[in-house]
Amino acid sequence: MYSNENFSPELSECYKIMERIRGRIGGLGLKYFIETYGCQMNEHDSEKIAGMLENCGYSKAESKQDADFILFNTCCVREHAEKRTFGNVGFIKELKQQNPRLLLAVCGCMMQQKEVAKRLYDRFPFVDLIFGTHELKNFPDMLEKLLDEQRLFRVSDSEGEVIEGLPVKRNPGFSTFVNIMYGCNNFCTYCIVPYVRGRERSRKPEDIIEEVRRVALDGYTEVTLLGQNVNSYRYGDVDFPKLLRMVHDSVSELPRIRFMTSHPKDLSDGLIEAMAELPRVCKHIHLPVQSGSDRILKLMNRRYTREKYLQLIDKLREKVPNVEITTDIIVGFPSETEEDYEATCELVKKVGYSNAYTFAYSPREGTVAAKMDEQIPEDIKKLRLNKLNAVLAETIPANNEKYIGFEGEILVEGVDRRGEPLLFGKLSNFKMVYVEGSEELIGSLVRVKVDGYRFNSLFGHIIRETEA
Ligand code: SF4
Repeated sequence: MYSNENFSPELSECYKIMERIRGRIGGLGLKYFIETYGCQMNEHDSEKIAGMLENCGYSKAESKQDADFILFNTCCVREHAEKRTFGNVGFIKELKQQNPRLLLAVCGCMMQQKEVAKRLYDRFPFVDLIFGTHELKNFPDMLEKLLDEQRLFRVSDSEGEVIEGLPVKRNPGFSTFVNIMYGCNNFCTYCIVPYVRGRERSRKPEDIIEEVRRVALDGYTEVTLLGQNVNSYRYGDVDFPKLLRMVHDSVSELPRIRFMTSHPKDLSDGLIEAMAELPRVCKHIHLPVQSGSDRILKLMNRRYTREKYLQLIDKLREKVPNVEITTDIIVGFPSETEEDYEATCELVKKVGYSNAYTFAYSPREGTVAAKMDEQIPEDIKKLRLNKLNAVLAETIPANNEKYIGFEGEILVEGVDRRGEPLLFGKLSNFKMVYVEGSEELIGSLVRVKVDGYRFNSLFGHIIRETEA
């Protein structure tokens, strides 16, 4: 947890309210439980809310049953998300009957969709608070009102802003996230994110560096710089490659720097050079291609062509030694023909991804693609997805052959106990390696040599333990 000494008047007020709440409930031993769905953006928002709750005097509960404050941080990107959220919320009714002081709040991207949020608010009168993605800094104020027994619905149409200095309770571990920007301006036609996260807002480089320095001092080994499209980061004359260099050079005690996600249309030579030159910047890039067909890419409003994408891959491979590329792919986008689909499979074979997240297109209410004609029948989408996954099941292991005899450093993340216990951790380029070793190595960087592979994982042995 941290607090910033240089608060804006608005943030000072926020801290005053937290202090007031702490004075009121601090001695009661109240506990919170947060359940988070979706991406790292949501995860990080939950860490901020946990930080505020702890500043208010709550401590973390092990389960919902033990909690006096339950929060669902929702996501609207995945399929059937609404059904799942409504089901989860409905389940809390019984807990509220058992614990009359239990408060229930729902936030996140799904709640930024006003109609959905309103439906939930009307259907479940025992939900005490609903708030959208732009309300984080008002959380203490809302909590104080809940404690005064008010029921609140706070979903604003604002574009969102950059808020510095909120307390954060980071999930324990050795790897964490630092937001460098919020929102997205791209409006890919299938995506709901720009509607629920607002327009792009970049944080000041000094604030980012300060936060990265703090997490490094707190003992984290790896930081991922986070944004919906980090490549369009800009603050004054600082673009993303420059920011990456500034973070790298200013926080020399941090062993690993990652970043996510990169939109191919904005991936510059400057970034490729920075990846190649900066030793502590990891040699992995997640570069969502989505489709291998120019016609579909245009309909998706991705603003690059297949050729441009392949040129980027060639450049990355030429300049950044041992770089690995992962991607996202959607099959069954409206009007996708067999020919379009085959172009995607061919591209997958050509690139040789080290991993890919594949999806059958499913419409999101409020997006352009949801209204497009020629939606593809479910059975065809399923068939195409299965076939694409079969292509990946061949291409991913083939890409592993070159690793036999490879030496590199992994950050040990944990123990896999599915068979003989093995430590696992990732190389700088995000390849997972399994090795025999002591559990005491969890959280450390160790040097390994690869002896074999299975699907997308490598197997090897430890050569040397290095300092984390
Ligand atoms: S770049 Fe496209 S897919 Fe990514 S968040 Fe923005 S609109 Fe969505």
